[in-house]
Amino acid sequence: MNAEIIAIGSELLTPFRQDTNSLHLTAKLNELGVEVDFKTVVGDRKPDLVGAARIAFSRAHIIIFMGGLGPTEDDLTREAVAEALGLELKRDPEIGAALFAFFASRKVKMPENNLRQADVIAGAEVLKNPRGTAPGQFLETQYEGRQRLIMLLPGPPREILPMFDQQCMERLNARVLAHHIATRVLKIAMIGESDADRRAAPIYTQHTDVQTTILASTGGEVQLHLRTQAPTQEEAQERVDSLASLLEDEFDEAMFSTRGESLEQIVGYYLQMRGATLAAAESCTGGMLSERITSVAGSSRYFLGGAVVYDNSLKTSMADVPPLMIAEHGAVSREVATALAEGIRKRCKATLGVGITGIAGPGGGTEQKPVGLVFHAVSDGTTTDVVERRFPGDRDRVRHWASQQALDMIRRKLM
Ligand code: AMP
Ligand code: MG
Repeated sequence: MNAEIIAIGSELLTPFRQDTNSLHLTAKLNELGVEVDFKTVVGDRKPDLVGAARIAFSRAHIIIFMGGLGPTEDDLTREAVAEALGLELKRDPEIGAALFAFFASRKVKMPENNLRQADVIAGAEVLKNPRGTAPGQFLETQYEGRQRLIMLLPGPPREILPMFDQQCMERLNARVLAHHIATRVLKIAMIGESDADRRAAPIYTQHTDVQTTILASTGGEVQLHLRTQAPTQEEAQERVDSLASLLEDEFDEAMFSTRGESLEQIVGYYLQMRGATLAAAESCTGGMLSERITSVAGSSRYFLGGAVVYDNSLKTSMADVPPLMIAEHGAVSREVATALAEGIRKRCKATLGVGITGIAGPGGGTEQKPVGLVFHAVSDGTTTDVVERRFPGDRDRVRHWASQQALDMIRRKLM
C-alpha cells in the first residue's frame, strides 16, 4: 500500500512557512510498512484542491489531507474533497452542539461560519480534536472502483500530531495489509557501473515487482540492491531470489557475492574451503591488501602474513627478487610482480603468494609507465596469474583498485 500526503495552505507556498507535519506522518506510515510515494502542497484555492485530490485518489491507497479545516473562507478542504469524491457534506448535530458549547464557555457568540466545521463527508467517521475546534475525518470509500482510505486532518502541528498517533494509526493498522519485505545484495568485482547497468537493465526492467538499485562503491565494486514487498515472507523472498538468479547467470564469475558478503570475506571462505594459506608482498598498496584480508574475523586460519616491500632493497631481501631483474625491467613490471608473488609464497611457506607493484601517483609516472599502472600476480607454485591494469583516479583510488584486483585474482584462482 502506498500513501500520498497533501498539505493545504497558501502560506506553505511562501518562503516563510513549510510543511513539517508530513515528516512525522511519513515516519509513522513507514512503521506500518506503508511507503509515501507522493507529497503535494496546494494553496487555498478550491479548483486546485479538487484537482490535487483527484490525482491523489487515482494513484495512492491512503490519502491524507492536512490543513484547511478551520472556519474561515479559505478553509476549503471539506468542500473540495467532497466534490472530488462526488459525496455530500452533512452537518453533524453533535459537532454543532460542541461548537456552541465551546463558544458559550468563553462567553462569546459563535460566528455563523464556525458551523462549517460541523460538515462531515457522507460516510466519514469523526476524529475528536481535544486541542482545537476543527475535528478530523476518516473515510473508507471507493474511487473509480478502487478502495481508498482518506483522512482530513487539521493543520496546526499540536492538533494533527496527537490526532494522527492516537486515532489514525489504530484505524490504519486494522486496514493496512500486513506485508513483508525481502532484500538481496549482489556484488560484482572489477566491472564499471555503467557496464554493469548496461548488462543488468534488460533483466531487472522485466521484473518491475522488484525494486533494483545500482550502486558503485570504492574502486572496482558494483552492488545491485534488490527489494520487494509481498503479503508473505515466502512470496517476497521468492521474487527477489528469482531475479537474483537471472542476474547471477548474466554476470557469472564476475559476481562474487549474492548475499551481501564483502570480497575479503569471500576470499576467506574460499581459502578455508580449499584448506589453503596466503602470503602477500605489497609495494604500492603498502599493506592495504593485508589490512583488508585481516579485517575479517578468523583470518588467522588462512592468512600467514608477508611484507610491505616499498623500497627495492626490501623486494630483494624479503621476497627474493633478483636485483638484476629490477635493474632490467624496473620495479613496476610484470617480472617483478611475478617474482614477488613466488618469492613471498616460498619464504612464508604459503599455498598462495600475491605480489603487487605499481605507480599510485600523483608523481613517479613516465611515458612508458604512467600513474595508475599496476601489476598484480598470484602464484600457487605451479602457475602464476599476472594482471596489468591502468587504474583511473587519485592515489587512494588507485591503491584501492589494486587491492580489489588482487583479491579478485585470489578468488578466481581458488574457484
Ligand atoms: P489550517 O488548518 O489550514 O488553518 O492551518 C493552521 C496553521 O497550521 C497554519 O497557519 C500553519 O501554521 C500550520 N500548518 C498547516 N499545515 C501545516 C503543515 N503541513 N506543516 C506544518 N504546519 C502547518
Ligand atoms: Mg490554512
